[in-house]
Amino acid sequence: KEDPRIARISSSIRIIPDFPKPGIMFQDITTLLLDPKAFKDTIDLFVERYKDKKISVVAGIEARGFIFGPPIALAIGAKFVPMRKPRKLPGKVISEEYSLEYGTDKIEMHVGAVQEGERALVVDDLIATGGTLCAAIRLLERVGVTVVECACVIELEELKGREKLSDKPLFVLVSST
Ligand code: AMP
Repeated sequence: KEDPRIARISSSIRIIPDFPKPGIMFQDITTLLLDPKAFKDTIDLFVERYKDKKISVVAGIEARGFIFGPPIALAIGAKFVPMRKPRKLPGKVISEEYSLEYGTDKIEMHVGAVQEGERALVVDDLIATGGTLCAAIRLLERVGVTVVECACVIELEELKGREKLSDKPLFVLVSST
């Protein structure tokens, strides 16, 4: 059945209604970070899953993928690559656009950060519509990287982001309806 560590992780996440705008139930992982056992259990659960999967790169999505991605990368002996919002990375970048409720956004990655044939894990704190993870997958696949799986702490099941990832496996610790 469910790993006993999941309950503690789940209860350490704070929900803030109407942030950043009315109608959004914001899943605040900063309270998970305040509980060292819950934080460690979170990282351990991912590391246990990915340590023997020959992953060479952990791609973390700005901003909260930068919190969970690096400790996973260190523990499994992979490199960490930040996937950032536009105009943040100083070097030459490749970018991928994705649509939002109103308009579009982009994520960017440094040219040369990954090589063709590498095996990647994509990490973020949460999947909602799946648009962000989809763009990250497209970006990595464009440069010949195999995306083995996406990993998030939280899934907002009702938004069906998982379906948008089509064939790409998604692993989450906590599902919220
Ligand atoms: P999406 O592209 O719709 O899957 O949105 C995922 C991104 O938006 C992630 O980087 C999340 O951190 C953030 N996000 C979306 N909805 C929420 C929410 N309800 N609570 C916290 N973060 C959210």
